[in-house]
Amino acid sequence: PRHRRPGACRARGKPSSRAAAGDFEQRAQAVIVASGGIGGNQALVRQNWPARLGTPPAHMLCGVPAHVDGRMLGISETAGARLINRDRMWHYVEGIENWDPIWPMHAIRILPGPSSLWFDATGKRLPGPLWPGFDTLGTLEYLRHTGHDYSWFVLDQSIIRREFALSGSEQNPDLTGKSWRQVAKRAIGKHAPAPVEAFKQHGRDFVVRDTLEELVAGMNALAGNALLDAAQLRREIEARDRQFDNPYSKDSQVMAIHNARRYRGDRLVRVAKPHRLLDPSHGPLIAVRLNILTRKTLGGLETDLQARVLGHDGQPLPGLYAAGEAAGFGGGGLHGYRSLEGSFLGGCLFSGRIAGRAAAAAVA
Ligand SMILES: Cc1cc2nc3c(=O)[nH]c(=O)nc-3n(C[C@H](O)[C@H](O)[C@H](O)COP(=O)(O)OP(=O)(O)OC[C@H]3O[C@@H](n4cnc5c(N)ncnc54)[C@H](O)[C@@H]3O)c2cc1C
Repeated sequence: PRHRRPGACRARGKPSSRAAAGDFEQRAQAVIVASGGIGGNQALVRQNWPARLGTPPAHMLCGVPAHVDGRMLGISETAGARLINRDRMWHYVEGIENWDPIWPMHAIRILPGPSSLWFDATGKRLPGPLWPGFDTLGTLEYLRHTGHDYSWFVLDQSIIRREFALSGSEQNPDLTGKSWRQVAKRAIGKHAPAPVEAFKQHGRDFVVRDTLEELVAGMNALAGNALLDAAQLRREIEARDRQFDNPYSKDSQVMAIHNARRYRGDRLVRVAKPHRLLDPSHGPLIAVRLNILTRKTLGGLETDLQARVLGHDGQPLPGLYAAGEAAGFGGGGLHGYRSLEGSFLGGCLFSGRIAGRAAAAAVA
């Protein structure tokens, strides 16, 4: 956890001065570029945004620190390196603006359990199988074709306390503090983990109300439009609630909820007990405006199997190596267009080991 006085000055993840103070030259027998991707540079993200994901959002948040600015990729390219698979990227759609930011436009990603109802900006429920936490890039593609940059989760207190996890080490003091006692608290009580409750209270994307009509009025006020109709949302929510009346629902989100609860771990700390969303004993009702946030760069500097950076002629540039996200997690795009969630660090470590060994062997 971060221990910091409110308002205290800190510089982690923020851009440093860009005023040139002079030139310097440093020479080495081998240079390994391991500077990360481009997610902190929204102009570069928009420039490389793939057509298959629709148009780039006008408004998005940053899921990575400002140093992930892609600058070293441009510098390497100027030195003759070949950048490939630039249009491969991995961004999330469940971004909330951090009320206590570390870096500019700092987004926290909600890692959602399966029970929240997901609506587009106009109040239309997202189609299956685009349920919370199911298909990151599929949902991004769908939402980019709705004509709006944001979407909504609608849930209640019983769901938020079980199902909202927040991405980022400082958001999970129980896990990073290795405290089983704290982790066990996720299974009991009415409250969500403290960082989630703090977002519910301070986060500008959260609307918390007792009735659906008040909730929808709050959502429209937050969005600054009148796109949502309380009667339409009520129809959708009641239709979903009815699906819990029998054990063999035909709503595939409800089926997924039942299925997830067959696993004891998920039943205890990850998936809320099925209940009617409009039952006041599970309230208050909560709506969360979800923004797109940048995160991973799946393309980058092309290398051979020894992590040597290749030039435009396909030959290694003498002394230059690349590893990690700067090399698309290895080679210039180890994952292809998609990836298994949470499997990125493996490519960083693996390509880093290869680059380190190859560079050491070359200069020995
Ligand atoms: C909140 C969050 C959660 C994540 N969760 C997961 C997860 O659960 N599983 C997973 O697999 N991945 C996850 N990732 C992705 C993963 O953390 C990154 O892909 C990985 O850290 C990239 O490692 P890297 O060493 O290639 O680059 P980085 O970690 O970005 O490091 C690059 C380094 O280079 C430095 N640098 C950059 N430019 C320059 C320059 N010009 N001069 C000098 N230094 C420079 C930077 O300061 C930085 O120290 C997450 C990322 C974030 C932000």
